Amino acid sequence: MTLDNRPLFKGGCQCGAVRFTVEGALSDASVCHCRMCQKAFGNLFAPLVSIGQASLRWTKAEPARFRSSSHVERGFCPACGTPLTYEAPDGVALAIGAFDDPAAIVPTIQFGVEGKLPYADSLPTLPMRDTTQDHAALPWLAALESYQHPDHDAEPTRSS
Ligand SMILES: [Zn+2]
Ligand SMILES: [Zn+2]
Repeated sequence: MTLDNRPLFKGGCQCGAVRFTVEGALSDASVCHCRMCQKAFGNLFAPLVSIGQASLRWTKAEPARFRSSSHVERGFCPACGTPLTYEAPDGVALAIGAFDDPAAIVPTIQFGVEGKLPYADSLPTLPMRDTTQDHAALPWLAALESYQHPDHDAEPTRSS
């Protein structure tokens, strides 16, 4: 499946030190359950989208990279650790959750299912709570100040 409805995608890490733009259509979006992806993302699986022939540009710092195998490097923010890339000789994929609008990138296939955790398929059946349903935590939430980079690039600063 090709996502060709949006020519420009943006995203970055949690702290905002690493930001990217992708111009052109993204290619396959997937989740990978393999043990390598679990470790690289510190997560149950890795949601990734291949950039295909689109052009990827790092607009601030470049990610740091860890060579996880003889074939693959994994990019992450050197400042905050957000997992960002899967880089193989046949192409680059970006972490879907790192995009400013991750809802626009819909996974269409699961890879590495031999590594799928036994409870992964039952996640949607778990009880669900909205963050604000925990009334005891509301004062804590009200006082919380986020240091996460917003899901858009900073406004250009005007010289005064
Ligand atoms: Zn960061
Ligand atoms: Zn994997």
